[in-house]
Amino acid sequence: MDVSTAVAIHLSRKPFKTIPSLFKRLPLVLSQQKWLMKQLSRRTFLQNLGIGAGVAALSSFNNKEGQPNNDKKLNIALCGLGRYAGYLAEGLQESKYCKLAGIVTGTPSKAVVWKKQYNIPDGNIYNYQNFDELVHNKNIDLVYVVLPNAMHKEYAIRAAKAGKHVIVEKPMAVTVSDCEEMIAACKKAGVQMAIGYRLHYEPYNMEMKRLGQQKVFGQVRLIEASLGYGGSQPGEWRLKKALSGGGPLMNLGVYCIQAHRYILGEEPIAVTAQFAKVTKPELFTEVEEAITWQMEFPCGAVCNSTSTYNCSIDRLFASADEGKFELSPAISYGPFKGHTSKGELNFPVINQQATQCDEIAKVLLAGEELPSHISGEEGLKDVKVLQAIYEAARTGKKVAIV
Ligand code: NAD
Repeated sequence: MDVSTAVAIHLSRKPFKTIPSLFKRLPLVLSQQKWLMKQLSRRTFLQNLGIGAGVAALSSFNNKEGQPNNDKKLNIALCGLGRYAGYLAEGLQESKYCKLAGIVTGTPSKAVVWKKQYNIPDGNIYNYQNFDELVHNKNIDLVYVVLPNAMHKEYAIRAAKAGKHVIVEKPMAVTVSDCEEMIAACKKAGVQMAIGYRLHYEPYNMEMKRLGQQKVFGQVRLIEASLGYGGSQPGEWRLKKALSGGGPLMNLGVYCIQAHRYILGEEPIAVTAQFAKVTKPELFTEVEEAITWQMEFPCGAVCNSTSTYNCSIDRLFASADEGKFELSPAISYGPFKGHTSKGELNFPVINQQATQCDEIAKVLLAGEELPSHISGEEGLKDVKVLQAIYEAARTGKKVAIV
């Protein structure tokens, strides 16, 4: 089963509700509510930080409830209309603070279908050649880059130069220097960039973060975070190194790295890694089929992960001094299942794409700074770890992360 099938099975069609409204009807304990709210609303005013004009131009003031005024939505253009853009488009239909206002595609027939399906005006339809004309379009606030990994850099930078905020899908880019250039371009243009880290808005994962970082079961001593699926097809861009930057590590491993980092609240200091034996040499000529790695963190926890394109796994497990907590499924689109030493976890099933886009929109519409845990700097940290893991697997040596 490939990930889209697995994901389709899990994908919830339940109506999206905002996180605060869900709190009213859910049996979350107060500490969980406070933690989640803190994660969702950690903002500082841009004015204090001197962040630029692009954001100020968007800004509308919050109403009494701290929500953006409802008449302004964040107008989003999806760049790249592949499989995941389809999930995002559906999420945007359910969102409260965003509108799917534009598209960027190199395939004219897709433009016709999307225009009709999502009522997109001709003036908001771009291709990769006339993309830069976005600079003249006041009806697009943000470009969401959903292209193959190696193309993220070019389109994020072009979007920034056109004065648009950017969301870039994971992994942020394929090299550290690409990430640095993207961050610099956004800073120069006075726009904000987020990485599409949807799990930062997902209650089960944020509970894992809370349990780990607040040491609810004491110090975490061991984490296992793995993600994989089979069913790779010949010709997929994911199997071409120039477009993907690597195999399942780039595509799936980035979530596992994130999970270790948000459960421990620490940065890894070194990695060791091993490529698995290639069992389908006809497919895996350029990228790895599977990889296992170990990360060292200052606290000394044992941290193991596998990313694979040859079997299904979707799991996050943590063992601490006084108990355990785990999710499986943990990383796909849900619904997730989880339990701790004290019993089942019971959080709302959300539309992850709608929630992520809405939470980002609320911040941008309020003219505030996006939270650091979804920032370009955060994406850069993960790409540094990804590169260190590849180096460790290639050399067989422990690689320090600097
Ligand atoms: P996809 O193959 O379904 O779509 C890629 C799109 O890019 C297609 O519309 C394709 O036409 C376009 N494209 C433009 N130039 C191309 C080229 N030279 N080669 C190939 N395609 C080209 O891929 P996808 O699954 O939608 O992934 C896109 C991005 O989204 C990737 O960065 C991926 O990591 C990310 N993604 C994120 C999630 C998530 O849960 N956050 C899930 C899936 C994918």
